[in-house]
Amino acid sequence: MSVCVRFAPSPTGLIHIGNARTLMLNWLLRVKHGGQFILRFDDTDAARSKAEYKEAISADLAWLGVVPDVVEHQSHRFDIYAAAAEKLKASGRLYACYETAEELDRRRKRQMARGLPPVYDRASLTLSESDKAGRVPHWRFLLSQKPVVWNDLIRGRQEIDTSSLSDPVLIREDGTWLYTLPSVVDDIELGVSHVIRGEDHVTNTAVQIEIFEALAGSSPLFAHHSLVTGADGQGLSKRLGSLSLQSMRESGLEPMAVACFTALMGSPEGIHAERSMEALAQVYDLEKLSRAPARFDEKDLDNLNARLLHQMEWEEIAGRLAAAGVTGGEPFWLAVRGNLERFADVKIWDAVVNGDITPVIEDAEFAKTAAALLPPAPWDSTTWSVWTSAIKQATGAKGKALFMPLRLALTGLDHGPELANLLPLIGREKVLRRLS
Ligand code: GLU
Repeated sequence: MSVCVRFAPSPTGLIHIGNARTLMLNWLLRVKHGGQFILRFDDTDAARSKAEYKEAISADLAWLGVVPDVVEHQSHRFDIYAAAAEKLKASGRLYACYETAEELDRRRKRQMARGLPPVYDRASLTLSESDKAGRVPHWRFLLSQKPVVWNDLIRGRQEIDTSSLSDPVLIREDGTWLYTLPSVVDDIELGVSHVIRGEDHVTNTAVQIEIFEALAGSSPLFAHHSLVTGADGQGLSKRLGSLSLQSMRESGLEPMAVACFTALMGSPEGIHAERSMEALAQVYDLEKLSRAPARFDEKDLDNLNARLLHQMEWEEIAGRLAAAGVTGGEPFWLAVRGNLERFADVKIWDAVVNGDITPVIEDAEFAKTAAALLPPAPWDSTTWSVWTSAIKQATGAKGKALFMPLRLALTGLDHGPELANLLPLIGREKVLRRLS
């Protein structure tokens, strides 16, 4: 199978977790089968499209590890759309219309009052030349008014009768393009094999298949995934800043957590951590995705992020630790990784092991006894049990009463990694200082 997929955001805002799902479902097909991944900016709306959003979207892709093979901007391709429009005009599938918005609105209301579907009545097709004189048209695509059938890779067999739809406007009166035609023309010109997008486009697909047929004689495969909702079941909007990829990136989430989460939402395996894009591509299966809405709860993403860190091997993280100025090598990483929610938390444990903390000492006498019983160096992972056995014998303290004062004194915190692992990393000299 030769794969060519595209992710086609409109750069009119930041992209969110729902867009990331569309992105990953496309990208992983490319990772799994090779081929091409196109980043296409749907920027035909000059007023609302912004360079800063293109930059933010590109940065989000780079962060997630998505490397487009091709980047296209629809605003650079107007000539190609014009040529396609001429072809449709020549075959009678694109026709001039002259109704004003108010006129159309009045007609729709009349149709609905009579219990008829508010479908455009094609009145412009029968206007005389004199009716048209001096008026600037908008242009509609002439639907076949027949059932359009396709085998959706996620939704199965789909059938939409285009007689239930209005002929769609493809070009506005001012000559600007609506999304419908440019998307089809690009998909043809760029050789897109699979159109993978949200199910809010299912109705568009019937229309677009007719345009594909009119221009190229065939259509790509289609897959429409269910939409992502918030934990409350409500739809996401591009304006929900906290769910934007940019804010997730800035909050220090692991990109692989976001990748795994969005790729595996609604999958039979369920959401779990995979450590590389290649491994994720192997478990990902577009055709097994559930059709139910995919609920997104930030807490679940945080948990996945933590699990990913807890499983991370030293070799995978050594470079990032070095860049963050954290020393201590593999023993440090293995000691602390199970206590991280975000990677940045390593700084907390770096301070405990290598830096200065404020010890919490509630019982000075107990601390003094503990200090006196500290085993001599060198220390290893058995030192903790040797030391605490000696303290237990000397003071009679056990369980929490034994361990918590030591944890508070050594780390300044009431929770954290196994002290047996931390103790040799902190070292005898610092432990003595914190107990005094
Ligand atoms: N720009 C469209 C959107 O963001 C792209 C839809 C498509 O994939 O065809 O909804």
